[in-house]
Amino acid sequence: MDVIYRYDPFAPIVPREIPDAAAAIDRLIQGNQRFSDMVHAIQRRTLGEGPVEPLILPLCPISLGLPLYQGAVLNQAPFALILGCSDARVPTELVFDQWLNDLFVLRVAGNVLGTACLGSLHYAARHLGDSLQLVVVLGHAKCGAVQAAVATYLSPQNFSDIAYTFALRTLVDQIQIAIRGSAHALRDVAGSAISQDPDYQSLLVTTSVYVNAAVSALELRRELDQRGFKQPVVTGVYEFETLSVQALPGDPISGTHSTDRLRPGPSNPEELSHYANEVARAALTALERNRANGNS
Ligand SMILES: [Zn+2]
Repeated sequence: MDVIYRYDPFAPIVPREIPDAAAAIDRLIQGNQRFSDMVHAIQRRTLGEGPVEPLILPLCPISLGLPLYQGAVLNQAPFALILGCSDARVPTELVFDQWLNDLFVLRVAGNVLGTACLGSLHYAARHLGDSLQLVVVLGHAKCGAVQAAVATYLSPQNFSDIAYTFALRTLVDQIQIAIRGSAHALRDVAGSAISQDPDYQSLLVTTSVYVNAAVSALELRRELDQRGFKQPVVTGVYEFETLSVQALPGDPISGTHSTDRLRPGPSNPEELSHYANEVARAALTALERNRANGNS
């Protein structure tokens, strides 16, 4: 099976046009769909299934964000700012199938906001406000930073190396609020006995990954409001099984509704708490389904 990038010098050049946040969300969702379709096609072919025709991916310099002639220098003009995790398995541009000059990316373990991160954010809001239409917080499943924070939350006595390492502790501490909120939401939805479930730790990680992205989105919203930057902040989580960015844990996305993929971030603590309960319900449903299927 060939995967071919094809450039046609005679095809009309269509400059990127993303006039608003809705168009930016559509572009990111379609890009993530292309990415997952391509990987799934390769996986099917590897198993001897699926068509043998080459997968042809059209490209042109403009769509790559590259200059058309030597010596030209582009103006920086990303259409979305993404706060994501440093995890090497979740490269932002690949996951959304975007190219040069499309995304302004901040990556830090656990997608939390620190001082340097906020400085970059302020720079973007001040200098790139004309092109930026959207802010995204992208969490991901099985996040090591969230796993460490959950383990610390459940068994603090076993994590003295984190407790006595200031930089690491700062990171883990920032995630604690999402973990406490997730633990509370799981108790709300399933009762206090849920903490005795053999899968509780993994359930808490799954829920916390989504809630942690929403906590960062709420913080970002407040920071941006102070800067007069009004573009929407949305959140989503990259799931390794589906290769999709999703707004809730569980089944692969079947519909095309954009809020199933990227959902507006909370604008106050009540909305955050409501979302945490929704995530907890979805995580519990997914766990029960896995058990029914004999996967857990
Ligand atoms: Zn991570």
